[in-house]
Amino acid sequence: MFMCTGYAAQSADTPLAPFSFERRDPGPADVAIEILYCGVCHSDLHTVRNEWKNTLYPSLPGHEIVGRVTAVGADVAKFKVGDVAAVGCMVDSCRTCPSCRQGVEQYCDNVFTGTYNGADKISGGHTFGGYSSHIVVDQDFVLKVPANLDLAAAAPLLCAGITLYSPLRYWGAGPGKKVGIVGLGGLGHMGVKLAHAMGAHVVLFTTSPGKVEDGRRLGADEVVLSRDADAMARHVESFDLIIDAVSAKHDVSAYLNLIKRDGTLVQVGVPEEPLPVGVISLVWKRRSFAGSIIGGIAETQEMLDFCGKHGITADIEMISIRTIEDAYARMLKSDVKYRFVIDMASLGQAA
Ligand SMILES: [Zn+2]
Ligand SMILES: [Zn+2]
Repeated sequence: MFMCTGYAAQSADTPLAPFSFERRDPGPADVAIEILYCGVCHSDLHTVRNEWKNTLYPSLPGHEIVGRVTAVGADVAKFKVGDVAAVGCMVDSCRTCPSCRQGVEQYCDNVFTGTYNGADKISGGHTFGGYSSHIVVDQDFVLKVPANLDLAAAAPLLCAGITLYSPLRYWGAGPGKKVGIVGLGGLGHMGVKLAHAMGAHVVLFTTSPGKVEDGRRLGADEVVLSRDADAMARHVESFDLIIDAVSAKHDVSAYLNLIKRDGTLVQVGVPEEPLPVGVISLVWKRRSFAGSIIGGIAETQEMLDFCGKHGITADIEMISIRTIEDAYARMLKSDVKYRFVIDMASLGQAA
């Protein structure tokens, strides 16, 4: 075991604070990584505040991790000391169930091991995430970052990026397809960039007139203000695919009506309350209402390589870990363009 430092919450109503803990020494298949950058995902906040009622304390979040390899086990061939490496939302899975065998570990029948708040099968207890100095992960769950990408801005690809890439690929976004992205936040801004790079005709839906220009800059061919009924009506029955990244309560039927026969509305934002769905909108055009969560490890690597080829990273605002609670407060007000990333060098300054 070796000592690490990080920021953790001791309970749902205490702020994140400096925290020392031990991680396992790298085993034969492990990669030890010094963390350089960690993106701030809304799931981090849900978890530290126990909003999903499943948080194990101390809670040390972070699953958009980019760092540098400091040690590798004897069986590790993919990485060597000094390499850049990345870790996303999963650090293990059962590897034997049909989902794992098919490379969709995110749907593991025995539940994948979350990078944080997961049951740690090796060291016992629960997993600690990326708001920390180091992490030790099995090589099969460690990813490579294309050399041309900015490392800090690449960190959000590990959750926000793959969360949008996977459904865009699964439902066939590409040339000749009209794809809608609902909501311009951490998830939505990646959706606009990725769908544009895939060659689709991209339409961004937003409630904020102030985001129209940004939507176009990020790659949207059209931006529709979703509260403008006339603008919405002009797109009725025209979309092959819409990906809805909004996690607040909203009217999904308004978007279902914009989808063509046999098209699909995919929910990736997760509202706390059930969303009412207008069934008439589904039956009338044989439409589907679907969901999707992150992506498998092989697909996450494919996404990173795609981003390397197209020069895609997140739009980020770098922060010191000392200001993480302020960042959470701003995130709750959607006051970030479009993802906070922690400069983990600030951990040393904070300790
Ligand atoms: Zn996340
Ligand atoms: Zn499995």
